[in-house]
Amino acid sequence: MPEGDSVFRAAAQLHAALAGKELLATDFRVPRFATLKLGGWTVEEVVPRGKHLLMRVAGPRPQDRLTIHSHLKMEGTWQVYPPGGRWRKPGFTARCVLRTATADAVGFSLGVLEVVPTAEEDSVVGHLGPDLLGPDWDLAEAEKRLLAAPDVPIGVALLDQRNLAGIGNIYRCEACFLSKVHPAAPVSAVPDLAAMIMDAKVMLGANLGPGRRVTILNARGMPVGRSEGRPPYWVYGRERQPCLKCRTPIRRGVLAKATGTEERDIYFCPTCQPPPEGT
Ligand SMILES: [Zn+2]
Repeated sequence: MPEGDSVFRAAAQLHAALAGKELLATDFRVPRFATLKLGGWTVEEVVPRGKHLLMRVAGPRPQDRLTIHSHLKMEGTWQVYPPGGRWRKPGFTARCVLRTATADAVGFSLGVLEVVPTAEEDSVVGHLGPDLLGPDWDLAEAEKRLLAAPDVPIGVALLDQRNLAGIGNIYRCEACFLSKVHPAAPVSAVPDLAAMIMDAKVMLGANLGPGRRVTILNARGMPVGRSEGRPPYWVYGRERQPCLKCRTPIRRGVLAKATGTEERDIYFCPTCQPPPEGT
């Protein structure tokens, strides 16, 4: 599952390569849209919405407005090549090819690829909660949605994109650590939910530029430890390594699968984030 920052960066790269450009040829390699051809249409913009990518294209008539909607899921990626450039991924994994005079954009192993009228975008992203990296960001609304199911484990609730959009497994583990809350603890047990959400937002926001992802930030919210040899994360992927605050070995576990989420590993410090009773 991608994190919102990956999708944000992918959208920025695609927007830079495609916005304002006329499509010379398109190839949708999914059965439902295999016969759709958008040659002659113009890419207006590429925007992220949570973990979803929306490419808005305009056709020859004013009423022709379509949105190419994709979701990367686990393995998906969009890559931009010079026209006719050699792909770095196997051709059989390509799901969408968009050709312009200056660039080819290719979507590989996309978890979702569909084309909808732009006026009906809500049918594919309308369920999303406030986007941590989006213009619609609304902290109070995100908090309200999380608190609407107070008994759900916070680690599950943070991944549920209907509550707030953009958090993947890395940021949910890191946000729980910073709040000293075990991911299995219920939403209602988080002492300062707004602070936890804002920690996630600040970490995501610090990773919109180039370079590897780092969640360890200084007081000004700037990443530290982007250099090699320093851990990029507080807990994520650090099983058995010492907690950076108390030296206790970090543990890995699994949270129960919940509706709309995938079962993913959690990482936590058993001292800083004591597991709730009964787990
Ligand atoms: Zn610790």
